[in-house]
Amino acid sequence: MRSLTTFSGVVAALLLSAAVSPGEVNVVIEHNDTTTATPAFTFKNIPSPSMNDAASKAEFVLVDGARGINSGGLEKLHDGKLPTEADEPGENFYFLMGIDGGRLLVDLRSVISLKQVNTYSWHPGPRGPQVYTLYACDGRSASFSSQPKQDIEPEKCGWHLIAKVDTRTKHGMAGGQYGVSISDSAGAVGNYRYLLFVISRTENQDDFGNTFYSEIDVIDRNAPEPAQVIAAPPPLQDLSQTFASGGGVYQITIDPTRAPDLTDWAFKELAPVAQEWYPKIVKLLPSEGFQAPAKVTIDFGKSTAGYVAITHGNRITCTTSWFRENLRGEARGCVVHELVHVVQQYNYGDGRPQPPNASPIPFWLAEGIPDYIRWFIYEPKSHGADLLWMRQQKNLTPSYDGSYRVSANFLNWVTEKYNNELVPRLNVALREGRYSDNLWKQSTGHTVTELGGEWKKWLDAELKVAENHPRSIK
Ligand SMILES: [Zn+2]
Repeated sequence: MRSLTTFSGVVAALLLSAAVSPGEVNVVIEHNDTTTATPAFTFKNIPSPSMNDAASKAEFVLVDGARGINSGGLEKLHDGKLPTEADEPGENFYFLMGIDGGRLLVDLRSVISLKQVNTYSWHPGPRGPQVYTLYACDGRSASFSSQPKQDIEPEKCGWHLIAKVDTRTKHGMAGGQYGVSISDSAGAVGNYRYLLFVISRTENQDDFGNTFYSEIDVIDRNAPEPAQVIAAPPPLQDLSQTFASGGGVYQITIDPTRAPDLTDWAFKELAPVAQEWYPKIVKLLPSEGFQAPAKVTIDFGKSTAGYVAITHGNRITCTTSWFRENLRGEARGCVVHELVHVVQQYNYGDGRPQPPNASPIPFWLAEGIPDYIRWFIYEPKSHGADLLWMRQQKNLTPSYDGSYRVSANFLNWVTEKYNNELVPRLNVALREGRYSDNLWKQSTGHTVTELGGEWKKWLDAELKVAENHPRSIK
């Protein structure tokens, strides 16, 4: 039994683990971090993805688990086409949010001499790393079952364990591009027709733990060397510019390279807001020993998983098409909301070691706090989450954990009525992985459910008043 793990890339100190099959299987893992990854998927010891390998004509079957809502189909795994940027859901295959991975069958349609299995993934956050176990089989055993579901041990139905792959690091979750190559020192892993990938999520802190798999290549030892995927077009001219903030403590890079038409707006209108508000948000959400990321990047992309903007670690990616349409409206405030995510760092994207028993992060708070800061501190005059806004919503049945603006309204109400320090206190606990419902009782003397009920009563009364006297709210 022998194991070889090599690693290259900028984050050279990462610890990677890779177990082996009973044979002499080698698992090589490589990582390009978010600054070095390119659409060409270039690695030092792992070949770039290929176009006409044995997987390109294979049949891919979803054995267990469900596809992510914005995920591409299974064909994305063997079409020889690659995503052109770090967060392109439709150009990858990934499992549905909230579930723990699933199982994929690859039927190569005939037994081949299996030389190599290479898997590739790309995502700026926790959906970058790969965690899976690979099984293989020639399909000839009498006990063979080609599609064992999650509760069936593959080895009990004819499958051989080939390798266990886990590219995660010991300290937090490094986003970026991963290449994994499974091979055998003897030249071939074995003679197989079927491969089974038992895929796990990379984390369960939130619903976004399922890896963005970009391509799976299977190399036949007896076939001609497959052709590599045609290199992506040359990089665009870099339009990014860095702005100092907080007296030089922070550097905010705004990168409109992929949306050149937004350059003027981004530098003249967005930059001053980010420069002023990033340090303000840091001050609003302090905690002992915590330093907010000193460098923040705001860039533009074509798709951000259906959101208008999304934050991973210290990178905010804005959906270009939505921004183009909202430059005079909500665009700046949207970035303020995302800047709060950069400061929150609830998912240890800043590299802090994750405590072993970190409590789950309620989504409504992770999103309610940014909207509270945005609508009640940054732009209260926009009335984006107050009674005026509530009144304009049709069929609104607000619940304190309704997330975004509704939860922002609730947080503002509790803050004003019970405790000025509520949001900073919630934030510290969420950031340190020790949030619990008790915090509400400690901060206000009431449980969150009681507060939610009281807030709802108040709100219903206010909305009713507004209905009868339309001008009573200003
Ligand atoms: Zn958000």
